[in-house]
Amino acid sequence: MNVFEIKNGTLHAENVALTTIASQFNTPCYVYSKLALTQAFSDFKAGLIGSNHLVCFAVKANPNIAILNLFAKLGAGFDIVSGGELARVLAADGDPQKIVFSGVGKTADEMRAALNAGIFCFNVESASELKRLNDVAGSMGKIAPVSLRVNPNVDAKTHPYISTGLKNNKFGVAFEDALTVYEQAAAMPNIAVHGVDCHIGSQITELAPFIEALDLILGLVDALETKGIHIGHIDVGGGIGITYADETPPEFANYAKAILAKLANRNVKLLFEPGRALVGNAGVLLTKVEYIKPAEAKNFAIVDAAMNDLMRPALYDAYHNIAAVEPRTGTTTSYEIVGPVCESGDFLGHDRNLNLQEGDLLAIMSAGAYGMSMASNYNTRARAAEVIVDGDKVFVVRQREKIADLFALENCLD
Ligand SMILES: *Cc1c(COP(=O)(O)O)cnc(C)c1O
Repeated sequence: MNVFEIKNGTLHAENVALTTIASQFNTPCYVYSKLALTQAFSDFKAGLIGSNHLVCFAVKANPNIAILNLFAKLGAGFDIVSGGELARVLAADGDPQKIVFSGVGKTADEMRAALNAGIFCFNVESASELKRLNDVAGSMGKIAPVSLRVNPNVDAKTHPYISTGLKNNKFGVAFEDALTVYEQAAAMPNIAVHGVDCHIGSQITELAPFIEALDLILGLVDALETKGIHIGHIDVGGGIGITYADETPPEFANYAKAILAKLANRNVKLLFEPGRALVGNAGVLLTKVEYIKPAEAKNFAIVDAAMNDLMRPALYDAYHNIAAVEPRTGTTTSYEIVGPVCESGDFLGHDRNLNLQEGDLLAIMSAGAYGMSMASNYNTRARAAEVIVDGDKVFVVRQREKIADLFALENCLD
């Protein structure tokens, strides 16, 4: 199913022409499809029917309240990495008992907030964090439910910036140390060991690294059992990739099947933390061509979206397909699609063959994950509006920021 389709010569989101959205809400604008979001969640769940599982959407991929609320209504839990994300999930009516809290730098305040909310589990990433959590929970007269995030030293074969399961990453407890740290956890009065957790990276396009990691985790679970430490749930993390260009990530059904096969005969609950896979292809960034600038070596199309709106190309050299909203026939030209920000790294796409004129609308595809969530105000640019299309209706789920608000918290010296 593709909800972003050309109909009568114009790219649509569901039944709404992107030209209509641009004229109503201006550009740059993030446009999401409710159908695509819903479908991605139910496709992910389809292979898991009948198993004891919880799908925790990784909030950092797209934390818009409307998206969190939609997933909450569909029964999702949430993987959070900060107190801010906890507050968002609660504001979006997420169920605290379906929240897992990951992240290497949890502060005591964040721990307190999560304990007060009554979250499902802390994914603890170091022995020091474990000790602090025990102290914080003790001071509140509470018991903190924990998993250790174990680093299995598995190569996820993805971009180094989004690979998290290797020895040299900052994430998780080293596999060799896991047993010892679990024994420490089991002996702490305000810690209850509930599970084990592992997240090896993002935009993973092969099944093998997931299975390799899971095999190691299962070995650990068995070793823990012989020491009398019972593991009630296994959190296999997120990381399933999406198709940006020609990648062929594992299909949800095959991924689920492979994981469930490893868990046959085990009485454990399974947790998943998908982010990108649920939202990435459910959104586009709509932008307008401001200027066409032919230069000696290259032709530039300068658009009104920039690296502050969508950082992935600048940060990871990531590829996003860029489509004309009203494609013209005729000769195409190779364009560098760049933004107005004063950085040479401010590009959205290289060498794109398009037939463009100033004023044209472009859709930066696959922008639903790590798009708006990584946006900044660099160059004092107001962040884009966000809308969700539902059939032939459009809902503004985040207004475009106002310039005056961008410096409203600042003061002169006198
Ligand atoms: C970012 C993250 C995820 C989600 O990763 P995706 O690649 O978007 O699925 C899941 N778990 C943890 C701990 C993360 O940091």
